[in-house]
Amino acid sequence: MDHGGKVPYIEGQSIGVIAPGPDKKGETPAKIRLYSIASSAPGDDETNKTVSLVVKRVVEVAGRGWCEYSNVPKGKDLEFPDAEKVYRGVCSSHICDLNAGDDVLITGPVGAEMLLPEDPEANMIFMATGTGIAPFRSHLRNLFNDKVSKGKFRGCAWLFLGVPFSESLLYDEEWKEMQAEFPDQFRYDYAISNEEKSEKNKINGEMWVQHKMMQYSDDLWELVKDPKTHVYMCGLKGMESGFAECFQEKVEAEGLVYTEFLKQMKKEHRCPAAVS
Ligand code: FAD
Ligand code: NDP
Repeated sequence: MDHGGKVPYIEGQSIGVIAPGPDKKGETPAKIRLYSIASSAPGDDETNKTVSLVVKRVVEVAGRGWCEYSNVPKGKDLEFPDAEKVYRGVCSSHICDLNAGDDVLITGPVGAEMLLPEDPEANMIFMATGTGIAPFRSHLRNLFNDKVSKGKFRGCAWLFLGVPFSESLLYDEEWKEMQAEFPDQFRYDYAISNEEKSEKNKINGEMWVQHKMMQYSDDLWELVKDPKTHVYMCGLKGMESGFAECFQEKVEAEGLVYTEFLKQMKKEHRCPAAVS
């Protein structure tokens, strides 16, 4: 989206989008929905005038999963005309249905939780599920892509992304390019839940980010222990207990108490999370 330079933001912030509505209770315009910014401060075109989002269209269809509400008249949904009930997310549909040149009402930027550390020697572990990749794309473009900042970072960054299918992998080409250019500083790994299996996942055996991380737990633990390392999470809340699944044994093996270790990490602002 082109904001004409009127919405300057920094990496890790979010913007609000106001859809025309009607909203769930008929309100117009609809209430603000927040979206994590997926571009770095200069924008994808590096003009300081654009902002990019990664938005998942919310569509609930009775018979294909949970669908409590309906906001499309029965039989009128073009994609699912036979469904008993269809609910289409108000704001995500608005954004996903936009055409080039359309006006969009945005507010912000907001949020200070997910910002990058100031220390150029800090290390970063990024844990993302699905669209939770957004703030990490913003960070990684700052570290490894943008003309103004590229080359200044001296730590390492390791991205773990969890998605349902390989075709839902987000920005794969960008990660490949970054890794080819910065092989000693950038690593990325995927957990593809419907295509890989994990014995460690006691819930359903599917491979989630934390289970992929367990495959590298010795290397990761060395990083997590390092006071220069920041662990970011964005996406599903389940990653918080996933982090414990991954590191609790390691923490205890060193004679520490996991809850105290995590409390200390949070106190040092080394474990920011934007999860829902
Ligand atoms: P809504 O219309 O708000 O529907 C959402 C849910 O509400 C549905 O599950 C629906 O079943 C339920 N619902 C429907 N009707 C009712 C009713 N009458 N009463 C109660 N519930 C009802 N999303 C992204 O895709 N990308 C991002 O980068 C992103 N970043 C975010 C960052 C932050 C900080 C936060 C808080 C959220 C972020 N989100 C992101 C989620 C985003 O803000 C929206 O919640 C999401 O797009 C769904 O909005 P919607 O208007 O399409 O759905
Ligand atoms: P997807 O459905 O595309 O991917 C989610 C992946 O996580 C799937 O592989 C899923 O596996 C897996 N998963 C399920 N449960 C867990 C768990 N307990 N621990 C770890 N991984 C798990 O993701 P979406 O884009 O649809 O959803 C992302 C969520 O993040 C949304 O709720 C969105 O609102 C939120 N979000 C929040 C942001 C913020 O800043 N607060 C920013 C962006 C997104 P399976 O196939 O087994 O279900």
